[in-house]
Amino acid sequence: MSEISELKIKLAMSSRMLFNSGLVDYSGHISVRVPGSDHLLILPHPVSRATVVPDDMVVTDFEGKPIEGKYKAPSEVYMHARAYKARSDIQSVAHLHNHMVATLSMVDKPFFPASSNPGAFFGPGALPKYMDPALIHTNEQGDAVARALGKADAVMLRGHGSMVVGQAIEWVFAACVDLEEAAARFYKASLLGAVLVYNEDETQRVMKGRRKDSVVQKIWDHNVAKTKLAGLMAGI
Ligand SMILES: [Zn+2]
Repeated sequence: MSEISELKIKLAMSSRMLFNSGLVDYSGHISVRVPGSDHLLILPHPVSRATVVPDDMVVTDFEGKPIEGKYKAPSEVYMHARAYKARSDIQSVAHLHNHMVATLSMVDKPFFPASSNPGAFFGPGALPKYMDPALIHTNEQGDAVARALGKADAVMLRGHGSMVVGQAIEWVFAACVDLEEAAARFYKASLLGAVLVYNEDETQRVMKGRRKDSVVQKIWDHNVAKTKLAGLMAGI
């Protein structure tokens, strides 16, 4: 099987897994860099995230222009395209309208993921926030999101959701799961009192056990099994 075919399969699987985890609904998307090119593979605009198949994927360049595919790209493809353009180290990008992260993005208060172990995946400090609530429909807006992301693994989009980036589809999927869990715990803990954010040393020690291929693979395999049990992997 070709590398591109494998990437298309992983995109379709991760989309259905994100759906099954409640992290995407009728919108939200995940993409991957086409190795060795200035192109990306992404979910199509009109197909359900719960039933998308590998052959539905579309290819665009890093300006969001269509290159290949029977469908059009998502309207917010510019967020993905400009993240790849800005960060040569990232291979995969997800954009989620994830409920808990979007909720935390709406208050004028920093969100420190590293106050629970899943959140330590993102390292010390507050998650960066992109303040413009408009949808990302141009390259200029995509560039602005990439600037807000900086060197981080994720950025909150105020009142909208988040963008998560990483070194592979499996890593980005695991990070999406961890980020929403960290946001849910941070929200609940905030209701009870001041949150005990991990200090630098604590974060580094927890990160060491969290940011590992074996943990990422475990999260991936669990969600493959869970999504199959839900009957949502047929046709891949
Ligand atoms: Zn969006």
